[in-house]
Amino acid sequence: MQSLDTLNNLDQKHVWHPYSAVQANYPIYPVRSAKGVTITLMDGRKLIDGMSSWWSAIHGYNHPTLNQAATDQLQNMSHIMFGGLTHQPAIDLATQLVEITPEPLQTVFFSDSGSVAVEVAMKMAIQYWYAKNQPTKNLLLTVRNGYHGDTFGTMSVSDPKNGMHSLFSSTLSQQLFVDSPSCRFNEPCTQKDIAEFKAKISQHHQQIAAVILEPIVQGAGGMRFYSADYLCQIRELCNQYGVLLILDEIATGFGRTGKLFACEHAQISPDILCVGKALTGGYMTLAATLATEEIALSIRDGEPGIFMHGPTFMANPLACATALASLKLLLNSPWQKTVKNIEQLLLKGLNPCQNLASVKEVRILGAIGVIELHQAIDIKSLQPKFVEAGVWVRPFNKLVYLMPPFIISDNELETLTSAVVSVVKSL
Ligand SMILES: *Cc1c(COP(=O)(O)O)cnc(C)c1O
Repeated sequence: MQSLDTLNNLDQKHVWHPYSAVQANYPIYPVRSAKGVTITLMDGRKLIDGMSSWWSAIHGYNHPTLNQAATDQLQNMSHIMFGGLTHQPAIDLATQLVEITPEPLQTVFFSDSGSVAVEVAMKMAIQYWYAKNQPTKNLLLTVRNGYHGDTFGTMSVSDPKNGMHSLFSSTLSQQLFVDSPSCRFNEPCTQKDIAEFKAKISQHHQQIAAVILEPIVQGAGGMRFYSADYLCQIRELCNQYGVLLILDEIATGFGRTGKLFACEHAQISPDILCVGKALTGGYMTLAATLATEEIALSIRDGEPGIFMHGPTFMANPLACATALASLKLLLNSPWQKTVKNIEQLLLKGLNPCQNLASVKEVRILGAIGVIELHQAIDIKSLQPKFVEAGVWVRPFNKLVYLMPPFIISDNELETLTSAVVSVVKSL
């Protein structure tokens, strides 16, 4: 086996990492294995995982049930093209997704990543209006501080500043933006809070195909939690002005906020819903775009009579089978109680940060804990401190945040939060 130094050198030289550069001397840690909530590095150090590999590994790593589901499917077929063919894992997963999501959503389009699921949602909305002889309705309206992915379509609806719109401005579609919701979670949404959105949609609805939002939690665009009442009012305005509502639950879906889907906090349903990340329990890359029958049939009945998208690895059987097993595991567990318990322990554990001079705010919702600092962190110097403290936390910008696997024990979570508190204290 290669020495650790050789591995690191080759990685530095040849491998891109997310939002990173090659040969940039960021600390990058080779992982040997992961099991439960423990990540074991090649040098033998063990870290408690606070990230669920970006919202996805809700059952932890190397779970026997998920391993079994993937292995069983592997014996049958790992992949088969989805054009003209179908299979049990895809049918079962689609049926299951339709069953657990809000009632109007009846159809499922599988894709291989969250960004693509959002691209598909945007294309569906535009093609829906095209089929309805309203081709001028082709813009998206959204709020600032959103994050919907890294491809061109999704970048165009992500926060213009965080999303580096200036860098790509010549190729990026120009969409409509209003300020991110100012009313917080558990607060009402006043006339003032919704005024700008209302003005925008009333002025431009003839050009707007859909509103796209992350419900309740704005993830990578700032980890902000906003009022369910705001979301209710958005739903009503979309109805009033004949605009579709796309909800991006790629981060929030599958229990993370304390509800199975975050839109349940507002008791509303979207016309199009995107899921991904935790869909396979973090095992494989799979995402899905759900739509109402009305959208699906309008597209069928319009020109050109088919929906213009079809990924090579659409509905990959390995991923679908694993997703089914992951959903079953989740739904058969007392996940509401588990998430509530994590919420309580995050509240208690991160509370000491509240009074630190470097900290602007601590906020918790479900199994998400966020420490917002006054100043952007220096990832180069901060990352090794977390690793030395025995935890895996990956802060960005002004945010140190936790979203541990649901299977984390009380003890492990206490270790995780005290490590975070001590590192934040040292800032
Ligand atoms: C992560 C994320 C995406 C993009 O998903 P990828 O699988 O990284 O392409 C889109 N929307 C939200 C809300 C996300 O959190």
